[in-house]
Amino acid sequence: MKKSSRWGLSTRAVHAAERSVEGSVSFPIFQTSMFLADDEVAYDDIKYIRHNNLPNQEMLGKKFAALAGTETALPFASGMAAITASLHTYLGAGDKIIAHNTLYGGTYDYLKNELPKLGIETVFVDAGDPNSWPKQGIPNAKLFYIEALTNPLTRIPAIDAVIKYAARFNLKTFIDATFATPVNFRPAERGIDLVMHSASKYLAGHSDLVAGIIAGKQEDINRIKHTSNHLGGCLDPMACHVLTRSLKTLPLRMQRHNENGLALANFLECHDAVSRVYYPGLASHPDHQRAQEFFDGYGGMLGVEMRLTALAEGVVRSTKLFTHAGSLGGVQSLISRPAATSHLALSLDEQRVLGIAPELLRLSCGIEDSEDLITDIQQAIDLTLESKRSI
Ligand code: PLP
Repeated sequence: MKKSSRWGLSTRAVHAAERSVEGSVSFPIFQTSMFLADDEVAYDDIKYIRHNNLPNQEMLGKKFAALAGTETALPFASGMAAITASLHTYLGAGDKIIAHNTLYGGTYDYLKNELPKLGIETVFVDAGDPNSWPKQGIPNAKLFYIEALTNPLTRIPAIDAVIKYAARFNLKTFIDATFATPVNFRPAERGIDLVMHSASKYLAGHSDLVAGIIAGKQEDINRIKHTSNHLGGCLDPMACHVLTRSLKTLPLRMQRHNENGLALANFLECHDAVSRVYYPGLASHPDHQRAQEFFDGYGGMLGVEMRLTALAEGVVRSTKLFTHAGSLGGVQSLISRPAATSHLALSLDEQRVLGIAPELLRLSCGIEDSEDLITDIQQAIDLTLESKRSI
């Protein structure tokens, strides 16, 4: 692909970083753990899968960077591998990290229970409310960690204020943009340093792969890569190939996820059985203004509070198209009740503070026909009400 900033996102998704090898139209899979030795001068230059320098790893990184609008990107064996390698790169004993208080459960648990073992403390803040952040900064803080959209209430942090605060106190900014994808939001364009995605979700998009990716400036990614080369969370060439293939259809898929998310949100917001819908594309969403300012689309994730817990439990059991499963971002629609799945490890009190009501459902709208998804939810509500005439 000729270098041109004029190409649109869909064109970049298909063509960026592609090159022909021996006349191939599609970039081949180099399923080899190592390459023949050359005149390497540094350990990291030895061509080996764990060193993250084989052709499919580099090609995937380049293609993703072209979508994210960053200098470069590095794939990982999972989203958590990307997060942990990045944090280990920038934090050491005695350091602090400032983090949003409603992070993905795995990340939250890692910050709260694993990092203290290494002498690293997390200060949790409400990243949506800059007035609540310490005015004089936090001594020894090195990094500000946020998520572009929180799970499952789809709240949006004060991203520009985070960048300003970080600049004032010399902090790296790190964002988990999994729910948004580069199609809907490109945080590096606003000035975020490190942009991370669990590629297991929308990027891979078919619920058949676990991977992660981190994008940013060459200098930062080189440092993270060096750490990762020791930690070992590298992505295998075959998995790189599958993810690269998925990225080619990401803009197309996201267009449909966005349409379906909005259609379901509009339908459910007016439904008698529903008390509240959290979807950033709705005018009623508390961060709708930020969503309009930052995002090109609002995604397929919804938080839906049913009128009763029994109704939520019944709907989860009665859908036919929405599959009851905990992940998200695949072509097939998924449904879960966070109090009983992703947030089960939290006490009832902790759940309440985070807004995880027992009657809350999380929908991940896939790419099916929106009318069919609406019909499915309606029949699940009808079936539940019929079987529980008392509720
Ligand atoms: N970040 C978010 C927002 C997630 O939802 C997840 C997984 O569910 C992760 C990070 C971790 O990603 P992975 O499961 O690929 O390690």
